[in-house]
Amino acid sequence: MPVNPKRVIADLEELRSLTADEHGAQRIAWGPVWLKAQAWFETKLEALPVERHYDAAGNLWVTLRGTSDRALLLGSHLDSVPNGGWLDGCLGVLTALEALRAIVEDYNGRPPVTIRLVDWADEEGARFGRSLFGSSAFAGTQTIAADRGRTDHDGDRLEDVLRECGFDIDRIGDAGKERANAAAYLELHIEQGPVLEELGLPLGVVLGTKGVERHAITFLGQEAHSGSTPMAVRRDALAAAAKLALEIRPIARKHPDSVATMGSVKTFPGIVTAVVGRCEATLDMRDLDAAVLAQMFDEAQSASQRFAEQENCSVEWSRIWNIDPIPFHPDLIELCDQAIREVAGVSHRLPSGPLHDAAEVARAGIPTVMMFVQSLNGLSHNKAEDTKHEHLELAALAYARLTEKIMHWIAQPS
Ligand SMILES: [Zn+2]
Repeated sequence: MPVNPKRVIADLEELRSLTADEHGAQRIAWGPVWLKAQAWFETKLEALPVERHYDAAGNLWVTLRGTSDRALLLGSHLDSVPNGGWLDGCLGVLTALEALRAIVEDYNGRPPVTIRLVDWADEEGARFGRSLFGSSAFAGTQTIAADRGRTDHDGDRLEDVLRECGFDIDRIGDAGKERANAAAYLELHIEQGPVLEELGLPLGVVLGTKGVERHAITFLGQEAHSGSTPMAVRRDALAAAAKLALEIRPIARKHPDSVATMGSVKTFPGIVTAVVGRCEATLDMRDLDAAVLAQMFDEAQSASQRFAEQENCSVEWSRIWNIDPIPFHPDLIELCDQAIREVAGVSHRLPSGPLHDAAEVARAGIPTVMMFVQSLNGLSHNKAEDTKHEHLELAALAYARLTEKIMHWIAQPS
């Protein structure tokens, strides 16, 4: 296969020079720099025998017709957060482009299955706070009523900004038409975490995206004077919350990939001379296994009851948000593992804590897998985000091999 990994790096550097300033990448969705990035990307397609169009939600589709209409989708996102890195999102798009070039050459422009490259619109949600905008419209999980009135920090509404870009918010669900004939989806992304670097590995297979349970927890005790109230009779809401903050660690550590975070604690009245009468905390728990996540939730709830009783307090829980774990396809995980081992010698399987467009595609019932490439220092969403060039090159090689394997997997009679 004539895949040229150095061309991926050259394309990434060219895009950076066009769309980054001294603070990093500025490809915020629906804005002028993002539009410039898309126009640049379209110039890269001119030499290829492909069709292209934007769907109703602003996703850019590039189609190389194959012998079969059944399609392998290759995607990621060109948009970035403000002051973003040079790899998040665009690595996946430009690696897909290189794989597409190789497929055109290998098959004389006519591969056995149709190949469709997709650049998802507004993955980051950086301006309006709505992540996975384009891929959710594709998947049929769009939330138009909730999103219509979203405003950016200048007070501009998402609905109006979309219209200026040529899209009608009431019609974004039409992007679901693109699901027709989709047989598999592949996405390469930087890990954005420290796991592969700690293992000294360039590449990993993503098993799926973790489910999330996110709750507000309020402990209620009794405000009392800090000088006159004996220790034995206090009803200290912070003491109960503090015990829970420590207990969630052993609860999560029972499972290899679970995480649990008490990210916010507020005390009332919150003064130096009063016992805390009310403590409001948040808890965010994640795991790839729904049963594990449910178990952690149960254990955290009963621990909170126990600690509330010990401190003569009461406790209330209310769910802020949750999402089920989204496992990727077992056959594609296996093929991805093989492709990585063939190129890099050794592979590793890991879940993704962050959500990605791939999660929306998988939710729509399309067999999906992601490949991660190591992130230096686990950093992303800032200009220090980086990956060794040799690892980017291995990623491009493994990705191209994987597209070959998935094409055969799609083409095989079932
Ligand atoms: Zn991304």
